[in-house]
Amino acid sequence: MRHLLSVAAIAGLTTFNFACTPQTASNADDSFLGLVLGAGTVASTRTGDGSTATDSSVAGLSEAAGRVVGHGVFRMIDLGPGHAGERWTLANSGPGFFSRFVVVLFDADYDLLIREVLSGSVVLEHLFRRDTDHVYLGVMSAASSPGGDFAYSVHRAQADVPSPAAQTVWLNFAAGQNVSVHGRSGISFAAFDGAMLGERYIGQTTAIKASIVQAMREDYAPYNVTIITSDEREPPEPPYSVLHFGGDDSGLLGLADNVDRYNRNPSQNAVVYIRTFANYSVMELEPAEMGQMVGNVASHELGHLLGLYHTRDPSDVMDSTGSAWELATNQRFGRTPLEPSVFLTGMENTRRMLEQTVGLNTAFVTLAEPAGKLELTSKALLRSFVHDEIRLGCGTCLALDD
Ligand SMILES: [Zn+2]
Repeated sequence: MRHLLSVAAIAGLTTFNFACTPQTASNADDSFLGLVLGAGTVASTRTGDGSTATDSSVAGLSEAAGRVVGHGVFRMIDLGPGHAGERWTLANSGPGFFSRFVVVLFDADYDLLIREVLSGSVVLEHLFRRDTDHVYLGVMSAASSPGGDFAYSVHRAQADVPSPAAQTVWLNFAAGQNVSVHGRSGISFAAFDGAMLGERYIGQTTAIKASIVQAMREDYAPYNVTIITSDEREPPEPPYSVLHFGGDDSGLLGLADNVDRYNRNPSQNAVVYIRTFANYSVMELEPAEMGQMVGNVASHELGHLLGLYHTRDPSDVMDSTGSAWELATNQRFGRTPLEPSVFLTGMENTRRMLEQTVGLNTAFVTLAEPAGKLELTSKALLRSFVHDEIRLGCGTCLALDD
């Protein structure tokens, strides 16, 4: 949701509060299957509870329970197969009612399907887009909760598999008035200008914008996402989402309204805080490199609006753990490990998620493998000096579940 940057106190650099270091999960890299077999606590092995006419033919656990206490631990329970067109609903059925747990469903490949914070009467709903031999329920304590015992009923019903729906995105390089994102107070800002990024970029406005747009269109070319800019035309007919390029923040590079899994709302906002990038002017990036960096953040924020969570692979668009230098290289969508605040193990398959959510662009012939990293041409000496000093984190894990 939010890119938060942290810059160490070295000469000439602003110091930012470091808000978040992804916690190290001691068991995050263990064998996934081992954890399923060893750590899951199954309260019931009943299959098909028959509580409604529609779910009696569906096999699988109808109740799952266990205990997680503290943080850095989780439980995995195999709920059996899931089939395209099934709508699963998980609801509190006992001791977890007054606690807060992060509850996820993974498919048989351990790719994240859905994530919810369950407490009280909140339920988790998931509509399966494809068959999977195993559905794994993952449970961990929410950040603000000590954990404890949990128990969930699992209800299965039949529904139609939703078709992917194309998304239009308008990139606003013009001025903005009272733009509100993520429930924050509205901000106003002037039209994008390269000078906002530092003296080095005065007169480079057109080149940087071209690099931003190119980076985003390359990232989303395989999918049914149409990207148009305020330089090309007025806003299109609704629905469309808007990515604003303007404003600044004391620590954030970008912010999206939310993580909109499966893109339920096609009319949302995100912002890339352009002036915050001026703190990176000491890297002496070429205009195209700076455009790549801004474009990566823009693609990342759009990814949130299309339902993607944070990952922890600096080559991935949804990464929230890499350095500023890695953010200035060409990131791509892929299948990478989840950032631990999302869940302590498992993967985010961003390509499959986008395919299921917005659909594939049939005019796009092949999904090219990521090319080599953009060769940074900035001064190598400066790069080595600040490589370990400028780090990127993400504030999302501070408030992801609040
Ligand atoms: Zn983010």
